[in-house]
Amino acid sequence: MTSILQPANPVRQLALPDGRDIELLLRRSARARHVMLRIDDANGEVELVLPRRAAICDGLAFADSKAGWIAARLNALPPTVPFRPGSVLPVLGDSIALMRPLNGAKRVRRSGGALQVPGDGDAFAGRVRRWLIAEARREIGARAHRLALEVERPIKRLAIRDPATRWGSCSAAGGLSFSWRLILAPPEVLDYVVAHEIAHLRHMNHGRRFWSLVEKLAGDCSAHRTWLRRNGTLLRRYG
Ligand SMILES: [Zn+2]
Repeated sequence: MTSILQPANPVRQLALPDGRDIELLLRRSARARHVMLRIDDANGEVELVLPRRAAICDGLAFADSKAGWIAARLNALPPTVPFRPGSVLPVLGDSIALMRPLNGAKRVRRSGGALQVPGDGDAFAGRVRRWLIAEARREIGARAHRLALEVERPIKRLAIRDPATRWGSCSAAGGLSFSWRLILAPPEVLDYVVAHEIAHLRHMNHGRRFWSLVEKLAGDCSAHRTWLRRNGTLLRRYG
């Protein structure tokens, strides 16, 4: 039996052994060879990937047989950290606690280990997010412009975004783009990602000369690359 899935991915309920019902996102893949389950560490979404000719009922039976494994994986995920009073964010290696202003101030203000933010709910969260993006723009911009002088290449444009998978990118035209979430990583990891993209202004590849330039700009980066691989998805659990 074959069936065609609509482009908007359908969702099915899946009962887990601990009594929870979760949503299972179904996705057809022309490249997949087997039915697969994928769990997004950042948001806990569970996806059932079906090869082109696999029957949905077979896929669902597979997911059902793995329900215990899914529950264990979801339970092992670190908690998300919403932007609300009491949450603590790692900002360039410093712990910063979110709180309401002590004196009714109308503006976001950082004092020591606290960020005082007026407003409630979405307004509070939106202000925290905009403050982090502004910090990211300032910290990344300062590093990028300093390193651009070292490699003697101009930066045409510097964008701060929230891409799902990449931490930075560099276009052939000299446009750089970075994830604002790097401000939540240890500072040496941020340094490495900036050095990586700046090095691309000279070498648009990942060859030997590229990596030796990265090392010249930011020192030995292997530990930082490992950190991003292991912990990168954690950065998407904030907000
Ligand atoms: Zn690269």
